[in-house]
Amino acid sequence: MFAHSAGCGRYAPSPSGDLHIGNLRTAVLAWLFARSTARRFVLRVEDLDRQRARDPQSQIDDLRSLGLDWDGPISVQSEHLDRFDDALADLQRRGLVYECFCTRREIAEAVRAPHGIPGQYPGTCRHLSDAERARRRRERPPALRLRTGTAAETVHDLLHGHFTGAVDDLVLRRADGAYAYNFAVVVDDAWSGVDQVVRGDDLLASAPRQAVLARMLGWRPPEYAHVPLVVGAAGHRLAKRDGAVTLRQLEAAGHPTTAVLGWIARSLGSAVDVDDAADSPEHAPEPPVGLLRRMLETFDPTALPLEPWTFATLAAQ
Ligand code: GLU
Repeated sequence: MFAHSAGCGRYAPSPSGDLHIGNLRTAVLAWLFARSTARRFVLRVEDLDRQRARDPQSQIDDLRSLGLDWDGPISVQSEHLDRFDDALADLQRRGLVYECFCTRREIAEAVRAPHGIPGQYPGTCRHLSDAERARRRRERPPALRLRTGTAAETVHDLLHGHFTGAVDDLVLRRADGAYAYNFAVVVDDAWSGVDQVVRGDDLLASAPRQAVLARMLGWRPPEYAHVPLVVGAAGHRLAKRDGAVTLRQLEAAGHPTTAVLGWIARSLGSAVDVDDAADSPEHAPEPPVGLLRRMLETFDPTALPLEPWTFATLAAQ
């Protein structure tokens, strides 16, 4: 199942602030999956949402301090908009794109209608006449949607097996002109030769639509591994409000990076012997890169727990 290949894995954070231990655990997993299968590994900064994008440097520093490495220069989405322009033009030439003038409210109302499916775009603007489109264009700028020919798709996930999910006419470019996540991720993964996508399982439901889009652009969808999220004490998805969750905060609370990586190793069911003394001031801790190498040597994806990791319990140990 985990045969060697010459492909490529990736980690693709959105630069919206410091990474927390849940993000870092996913990054470590993406690296372990890629390197244990002889893949290249690339780092991509997903900064197309200009309102939320911050300086990615602290994220990059944190990934380095864990011992992660990557091949080639860091890819920054906002620096290569031409590849999204080209892929969009290709779909447009083939009649697979249409303008959508719906507001969020209109979509919410439409899905509440008797045949509406929550979370699914009901196709309201799919069949507008040219005259209607011209009229609506004078009122507001349109988003661009994919004319998808299928309602559901099955993908293969290394952890979840076959997963079937709904596919709707997803947004390619938002009304404000920014390329949408689902589109950019597919184009960039294909451009970088990514054939293995490891990320949080909150994105599992997006995989079927991304696979459909990849095929429509003539690309083979990658293999997926959607890994469990890290949750806080109350069982909700870990967030900054859960206290010390970033490397900087944990360090300030007396937990050096090697100790944090040791917690991550244990949470992955890793067979490495984690140095329990790493927290102690008299003991010079093993550098994270050494521990990470040992984690790689013994990495066993089948030992990976499939339930969320509750961080607060381990932090309190
Ligand atoms: N940039 C996305 C995030 O930080 C991840 C996208 C992906 O891995 O496909 O949630």
